[in-house]
Amino acid sequence: MINFNKPPYIGKELDYIKQVVENNQQLCGDGPFSIKCNMWFEKRFNTPKSLLTTSCTHALEMAAILVDINPGDEVIAPSYTFVSTVNSFVMRGAKIVFVDIRPDTMNIDENLIEAAITKKTKAIIPVHYAGVSCDMDRIKEIAKKYSLYVIEDAAHGVMSTYKGKPLGTIGDLGCYSFHETKNYSMGEGGAILIQNIKFLERAEIIREKGTNRSQFFRGYVDKYTWVDIGSSYIPSEINAAYLYAQLEEASKINNDRLNIWNTYYKRLRDLALEGFIELPYIPEECKHNAHMFYIKCKNIEERSKLIKYLSYHGIMAVFHYVPLHSSRAGLKYGRFHGDDTYTTEESEKLLRLPMYFGLEEKKVNQIIKNVIEFYRGGENY
Ligand SMILES: *Cc1c(COP(=O)(O)O)cnc(C)c1O
Repeated sequence: MINFNKPPYIGKELDYIKQVVENNQQLCGDGPFSIKCNMWFEKRFNTPKSLLTTSCTHALEMAAILVDINPGDEVIAPSYTFVSTVNSFVMRGAKIVFVDIRPDTMNIDENLIEAAITKKTKAIIPVHYAGVSCDMDRIKEIAKKYSLYVIEDAAHGVMSTYKGKPLGTIGDLGCYSFHETKNYSMGEGGAILIQNIKFLERAEIIREKGTNRSQFFRGYVDKYTWVDIGSSYIPSEINAAYLYAQLEEASKINNDRLNIWNTYYKRLRDLALEGFIELPYIPEECKHNAHMFYIKCKNIEERSKLIKYLSYHGIMAVFHYVPLHSSRAGLKYGRFHGDDTYTTEESEKLLRLPMYFGLEEKKVNQIIKNVIEFYRGGENY
């Protein structure tokens, strides 16, 4: 059986967790390993502030509080994404304005954003699908023109870049996920990256249950008290220790994934050239992190058949997001601006092949062989 995903494990995680338990005597958050993780992001990605969170969902919730979303405000997002991208804003009373995606990258179509802006629009939420960047120059230009915030959902995008800039560090705020299905993991976890420094102080407060505890520890205030709304967004040291082991080997993990991705791409190219399938497109200004390898089938029926065929051969391949705008909550909390030309149709064609750190070449070859056989009719089942 070839799993679709395996949580990343590099080898030093248990050592570091042991250190937390035996030496550091701090199990709650913001201990030595949490600090190391945050410094790693700040240095490597050259951003003013990284704060680990309990999830990317929670990083997005923090972002919604920071940009001061109030009932009736609108935010612009793609419909082809995970629920948390928009739920975090809906929880603060926002209405979601969905716009169509580009069929080539499955990212929000930057040329459709401007027409969706109203007097109530407060933010744009680009999602870097599969770790391939949205057109951030265009999105930032629009945001500047209308004084909107840009909050990157970079859950897929750790170690990817756009014109050399790490994803998550281009907008006002960037959100990462370290869920076990993402490239770097701590089981459940995330981070918020703060580029717009006006949010620095309030971010710490919101993350500390609405208290000024961080300022108190730094000696800036002599009393630690309730100053704002907030919640418990700080992950445990144990989780941070697991993540730090992977950050130390981030390049190794990234290269391993890219090798698998490139093997898929090269060996499935003939099928694409002959029109059987479509392969992912990577714009020239984007360096991706092989978060995902997907192909596109002709339609949903062919995709269902291929999933069954691969499953019969012991391979787990899965489809991805069902567009949010047509879901029960999506109808209630959002509206689609313009036409759904690509969101629904392209999402029904997309199939993700197994992709994880350590996926053996032998298995990749078997997967490729089975996909080719499905299309060329090499074998019946
Ligand atoms: C995984 C994911 C999230 C949520 O991440 P969690 O850490 O599980 O909360 C948000 N947005 C996108 C695009 C994701 O893929």
